Amino acid sequence: MTQDAPWVPADIDITVPSVARVYDYLLGGAHNFAADRALGEKIRAMEPTVFESARLVRSALTRMVRHMVGSGIRQFLDLGSGIPTVANVHEIAHSVDPGCRVVYVDIDPIAVAHSELLLMDTDHADVLRADVRDPDAVLGSPQVTAQLNLNEPVGLLFMMVLHYLGDTDDPVGVVRRYRDAVPRGSRLAITHLGHGLGAENKSELDDAMRSSGNRDQLHQRTRDEVLALFGDWRLERPGLVSAGGWRPDIPTDLSAFTALDRDLHAGLARKP
Ligand code: SAM
Repeated sequence: MTQDAPWVPADIDITVPSVARVYDYLLGGAHNFAADRALGEKIRAMEPTVFESARLVRSALTRMVRHMVGSGIRQFLDLGSGIPTVANVHEIAHSVDPGCRVVYVDIDPIAVAHSELLLMDTDHADVLRADVRDPDAVLGSPQVTAQLNLNEPVGLLFMMVLHYLGDTDDPVGVVRRYRDAVPRGSRLAITHLGHGLGAENKSELDDAMRSSGNRDQLHQRTRDEVLALFGDWRLERPGLVSAGGWRPDIPTDLSAFTALDRDLHAGLARKP
């Protein structure tokens, strides 16, 4: 395949699938290539409801951001933000208060290139290409320094990203560094894969993930392991639940989702 799209940065090999672009495909986005779609379809063959599950967990992001804005949070750090798709954090936040500030962080150059395009006309949001495992680089970046006041409460978002960190990356320690950098009243939102997805095809799924540019398996975690990421912060109602059950807009619709909503941990906590 050739570099046939003008928006693709020159140094990107589009024949190697990227986690960000595969997720964009699962969410119905347009910023993905044949290799990404092939991996997405391979995952679908193992997990037929993966597309619906991706949308289900993405919708929890919308509700969590709305909840944080409603609780007075006016600045957000979205770690592992992905390729911009509908209802991005700044769009949700700005629909309530255009003064909200957002910094997006992703390791993927395409996710960053698209975020730059999307954010060209807003002064209140910026994007940084960085590895979330390097909190010093993120927190000391010009983007964070210019947009966020770390003396005021911040909404930290780790949405569907921490399962790309292995235990040797010390995800608990990584998240703690961000938690320690923000003041009381800050919020931490996490969505994270549990062991439900791909349970019957674990080794095939791991092989498929290793074929991506990420070159690593998915590190699914138990509820207790995800709880540990919140440290001593206080989980807000309804606690750590599966994504469809995190403050659903229409509770009576939940039954339709139970088949898809398998072990997609979702929780939001407040710094005491
Ligand atoms: N947060 C978005 C959401 O919930 O819709 C996107 C989730 S997508 C499954 C995971 C994103 O995390 C990808 O865009 C990927 O590039 C990014 N990512 C993975 N490892 C990362 C790391 N170490 N540092 C920064 N971003 C990372």
